[in-house]
Amino acid sequence: MQLLSDLLHSERGRDFLLTRGIFSEPGDFASILARPERTELRGFLGLDKEAPDLKLVCSGQQIYIDYHFSVLAKIVLMRYLINQPGLAAFFIWHDTDRSGSDPLITKFEWPMGSKTYPIKIAPPGKIEVETRFVELDPDLLNKALETLKNYVFQSNFGDKAATRQRFNELKEVFLHNNRANLSELNFQVTSFLLKKQFGWNPGAAMLSGLLSNDILTAEVELILNNLSGYVQVYNAAIEELQELDIDPQVHPLAEDYLPLYYSCEVDDRRLRLLHLDGQDGHYAIARCKCGQEYRFFLGSKVLSLTEISQSGRWGPDVSLPVLLNRQVSGLIMGKSSALYGLIMKEVLAKVLGQKPVPFLIPKSLAGAGSVAEGYDSLIYHYLAGKEQPLV
Ligand SMILES: [Zn+2]
Repeated sequence: MQLLSDLLHSERGRDFLLTRGIFSEPGDFASILARPERTELRGFLGLDKEAPDLKLVCSGQQIYIDYHFSVLAKIVLMRYLINQPGLAAFFIWHDTDRSGSDPLITKFEWPMGSKTYPIKIAPPGKIEVETRFVELDPDLLNKALETLKNYVFQSNFGDKAATRQRFNELKEVFLHNNRANLSELNFQVTSFLLKKQFGWNPGAAMLSGLLSNDILTAEVELILNNLSGYVQVYNAAIEELQELDIDPQVHPLAEDYLPLYYSCEVDDRRLRLLHLDGQDGHYAIARCKCGQEYRFFLGSKVLSLTEISQSGRWGPDVSLPVLLNRQVSGLIMGKSSALYGLIMKEVLAKVLGQKPVPFLIPKSLAGAGSVAEGYDSLIYHYLAGKEQPLV
């Protein structure tokens, strides 16, 4: 089945993406953006007072400790777009995913000879815990820094004093955050590296910050009150993509689907909440492996997130593009999110009565011709004193 890179390689594929509102030319994308329909996110960012007609472009990414250049391509596009008149851009770092959902959340690799060696920054046994709830171990981080120091100086990057200075500055950031949670350390290291390598940092917030400020609550409730249509159209859209020989990147939804996760209060394990349509109303339920059970009342006629939203322990699933649709003018998407975004666009139009905002994808996701020089790692490029290739 075709992936996004395959579609970008053929004219037919690119035309198909365009008919679905997925652009790879930033100029074309910028020219059709409209002001967001709702104002919660604009208000949260303080944009309404400054310039009420400003258009808002958003992108997002799991908060890693290190990045491949394909991910940074989204930030490169964002930097291009903020130079367009009347446009603001904003990055959402996802800290509500399982810390085991990508290896780069908890470790990075250092290349030596023909091999790479892992440097782990998070304690073991936390892969089922969301990045925001993983507590760091200062001793383990000290060991990681010692190992990194050895690797850096064995790698022989020339000017030793300059190498030492770069290492020490990065070490400072680690030490300053060694008692924080993993998401905070990753955020601080990411911000430091982007500033050093790009000379620029996008305006940004953690996804958990949007949740606790109720920016997305009304959007989740809209899904809750259209669940059966949501599931039906979502699954039909998956089938349609498969018939077109395109990999939908996501699985069909079950009847008891809810777009919600909840982190266990006992062991922090991330649990999917399921829909129970009971005699006295609707519930969101989950049972943890530790034995703890959860049951939140959603409502009897009109469903609401009230019981869950104050907990500080809930998070959305991959439906985020749906939740952001009325809050933004357009979204910059990555490899897999652009494809399941196609499914979200169907749901928005056919179930929630919304016009889906356009997506912009980095052309470099097509793969050919843009392979960066050297090892594909932001930390490595910084410590080696190499300029960041602009993907
Ligand atoms: Zn538990």
